[in-house]
Amino acid sequence: MNTNIPTLADCLKAADETRELLVSRGCYAEIPALLDKYYKYGAVYLVSDGNTWEAAGKRVKEVLDGAQIKIAGEFRFPAEPRLHAEYSNIGLLKEKFSALSGLKETVPIAIGGGTVNDLVKRAVSELGIPYLCVPTAASVDGYTAYGAAILLNGCKETLECPAPLTLAADPDVLAKAPAYLSSSGFGDLASKIIAGADWIIASIAGPQGAPVAEQINEKIWNMTQPGLLDVLNHSVNAAKGDADAVRALFEGLAITGFAMQAFKGSRPVSGSEHLFSHVWEMDDLSVDGVPVTHGHKVTIGTLAATAFTEIFFADPNGPPVPPKGFQRLTPSQRMLEVSNAFKGSRAHDSVVKTALEKLVDDKTAEKIGQTFRDNWKDIRSRILDRLLPYAELKALLGSAGCPLQPEVVNLSRHDAIATARRAQMMRNKYCILDLAWDMGAFEGVLAKMEESPVYLR
Ligand SMILES: [Zn+2]
Repeated sequence: MNTNIPTLADCLKAADETRELLVSRGCYAEIPALLDKYYKYGAVYLVSDGNTWEAAGKRVKEVLDGAQIKIAGEFRFPAEPRLHAEYSNIGLLKEKFSALSGLKETVPIAIGGGTVNDLVKRAVSELGIPYLCVPTAASVDGYTAYGAAILLNGCKETLECPAPLTLAADPDVLAKAPAYLSSSGFGDLASKIIAGADWIIASIAGPQGAPVAEQINEKIWNMTQPGLLDVLNHSVNAAKGDADAVRALFEGLAITGFAMQAFKGSRPVSGSEHLFSHVWEMDDLSVDGVPVTHGHKVTIGTLAATAFTEIFFADPNGPPVPPKGFQRLTPSQRMLEVSNAFKGSRAHDSVVKTALEKLVDDKTAEKIGQTFRDNWKDIRSRILDRLLPYAELKALLGSAGCPLQPEVVNLSRHDAIATARRAQMMRNKYCILDLAWDMGAFEGVLAKMEESPVYLR
């Protein structure tokens, strides 16, 4: 074990919103102590859904009743259909909270998965009160993250809001969560491999003029990257209900959330793989009417982004070259292209705006390309060192119960690969997709991915 890797406690210290995270058997018994220590409160309000109420809500209520803590009310989203992180649900919660007489002295307790937590997180932040989180599945990295992933006007946006002040996670409860939730969390954690590679790319392209391409912050890099493979290997049996594995997975996800708190952004933990998943979120990707989880979309995105990156960096002699006669698009040509790609989408206007904001001029694109060509050997080895080779990644995800082929999440292989085009248009956050696009290599990489007998099969 590398002793330079920060512990969970170190990462909690680096985070400036969350004050305490309990991850232990029976830790719900300590919720009254958390309330006394960190909150000024007269009552609590419980938010859960039909499933998470059974899994944890009842026990939390018993503990609160036992400590004679006043419960001002309770709201339970239905168990079915699967809860959506729609902004309208935030409005609903705000209405419930605002109707309480002593709102400022009431602590909402979010008992549930990533969606319940995100909804409560944003609702309380709009009302200016803190909350406590009781996670019921190791399914996402969002519990401890700054911001909430909310579907707003058809587009998944990360809305700003502080992380919970305290959390209490019981590994026995996490281990009993449905297997698909733990494998979703595993996929979300594995995606940090790509986030790391994209951060390296951004840090090189940024000084050449690439927009929104942050430099590497060593402290935060060390929180998320050096220990990542170890944590993934320890978490592999989480979906099988192994309490130690699910605990390792939850702690790994919690650390990435703390990294987001410390960084005040998602750069350290989300890259091109999440862009694929954002597109599928907008498309309401579902199987037999049941929405595919965030983590499973991210899993396929991670496989696709790994394939894309491996193809781009395949040649030891230099980056892929643009096709003969390649010409970069003018802003008006680009606007038309993006507009056509998102025709009819509620997100159309915002994506067109973003794509134009991140369109670099020819001179800047050339500068970025030259830097990669001049330093190819060194950059290539840094990126390939960071990536888990595709075959190994696929084996690891497979042993954790994650989906491995796009067809499993109701996507054709061709459509999954073609998603790269829309993914590249979406966020102004420099990644491998932008680099390939700026260097005129984008379509060539996609064609190679399409022809490959290995990738996404
Ligand atoms: Zn994620």
